Amino acid sequence: MKIHEYQAKEILRKFGLPIPPGEVARTPEEAESIAKKIEKPLVIKAQVHVGGRGKAGGIQFAKTPGEAKEVAAKILGMEIKGLRVKKVLVAENVDIENEVYLGIILDRKSKSPVVMVSPEGGIEIEEVAKKTPEKIFKKPINSLDGFLPEEAEDLSSKIFQDTDLRLKLTEILGSLYDAFYKKDASLIEINPLALTPEGDLFAVDAKMVMDDNGLFRHPEIEAMRDLEEEDPTELEAKEKGLSFIRLNGNIGCVVNGAGLAMATMDIIKHYGGEPANFLDIGGSSNPEKVTTAMKILLADPNVKAVYFNIFGGITRCDDVANGIVQSLNQMEVKVPIVIRLTGTNEEKAREILQKTDLLHVPSMAEGAKKAIELAKE
Ligand code: GDP
Ligand code: MN
Repeated sequence: MKIHEYQAKEILRKFGLPIPPGEVARTPEEAESIAKKIEKPLVIKAQVHVGGRGKAGGIQFAKTPGEAKEVAAKILGMEIKGLRVKKVLVAENVDIENEVYLGIILDRKSKSPVVMVSPEGGIEIEEVAKKTPEKIFKKPINSLDGFLPEEAEDLSSKIFQDTDLRLKLTEILGSLYDAFYKKDASLIEINPLALTPEGDLFAVDAKMVMDDNGLFRHPEIEAMRDLEEEDPTELEAKEKGLSFIRLNGNIGCVVNGAGLAMATMDIIKHYGGEPANFLDIGGSSNPEKVTTAMKILLADPNVKAVYFNIFGGITRCDDVANGIVQSLNQMEVKVPIVIRLTGTNEEKAREILQKTDLLHVPSMAEGAKKAIELAKE
């Protein structure tokens, strides 16, 4: 789950990170009254779940509360990379002499958190990785031992020569790791960490992505979920107990079990097709889940064919077949449907489907080929 910059900053502030004073505003008037409290030059920042806001005009400066109100009015309602700005962070403007990158990610390759630092701050780290990979310094962390002070010191020394700054950065890295670990994050980025002319360090930007599987331990973070920023279809699916992820292709897949869902997407790709989604209706036989799944898929104009691939275990094939027939009665279906049902109560399912003109196929591969062919028509 992604959270906004202002939310990440609220969390990180509690871990002792140096965060410039600031608060979130939903209206120009709110921005003005926050500016009055801060009593310093300000930066007004669009709060949307994407990076590169600076370039898109979503980050602007203001000197007075009145100006903050005007600037906020400009940024609120702006569209950045397809997302409408509904909130702005009003914060104290930090004087920046130099920008540094700090990041912690959960790395699959080393199966551990990896702490990264780079003197090339303020640019997307992917860019740095492409052009000057030698300027990114990384340390995989043994999560049993934790992030050791000497490891943090070693990374700091790659950024600063000055002893005082090195000590400050070492402490910042330690707190950042503490937050990453205790809050079950899967990513934290401070880009940039700003060095001021006075020699202070401030986290000017903060990005935090939470590990969904750890969210149950952090109800205060779950409460930060911004429903307006999430795909409404994915949310509806979640509410109904389906796992749904939208993809770019044109074949809607309805599958039970995450493993089978992956295999189904693979086989569609293998035969030259593109799945429109990942959709797992799970291990129950509730016909309502099938109807919801159909509703979600058919609402997507990119879906040109639907492929049901069900392996009946706990899920009973006849329940799924009934769900399909029910949903066909409830809604207008304009795209072809290909069905492969095998396992528990397969015979009964076949009887149900035989009464309809739905196409059912005996194997997974055949179903995939047929769905690809029909999607082209
Ligand atoms: P992003 O573009 O979405 O990553 O947003 P950032 O918060 O990282 O801001 C982008 C750039 O704007 C930073 O790299 C800074 O150069 C600049 N910026 C952001 N906040 C401030 C600030 O308080 N003071 C100054 N002087 N520049 C800032
Ligand atoms: Mn940034």
